[in-house]
Amino acid sequence: MVNDQLMPITFSGGVKSVSDDDLCATCKNCQYVPGEMSECSLNWPGNEDGDGYVQECAEFKSVA
Ligand code: SF4
Repeated sequence: MVNDQLMPITFSGGVKSVSDDDLCATCKNCQYVPGEMSECSLNWPGNEDGDGYVQECAEFKSVA
């Protein structure tokens, strides 16, 4: 992973495309819909890398 710079999550209309590589995929606050747009009930408070993958989030709550 060459992306050292994390930025606030970009999303549009409250939704974002999430994949298994995103922290959000295993977060209770995410309505994760693989292959489609997903929603975060807290309006995406986390940070993503240069490729748009969510890497860290203070509000992350594991579904496990
Ligand atoms: S709270 Fe954070 S980790 Fe959870 S879905 Fe929202 S942005 Fe992703």
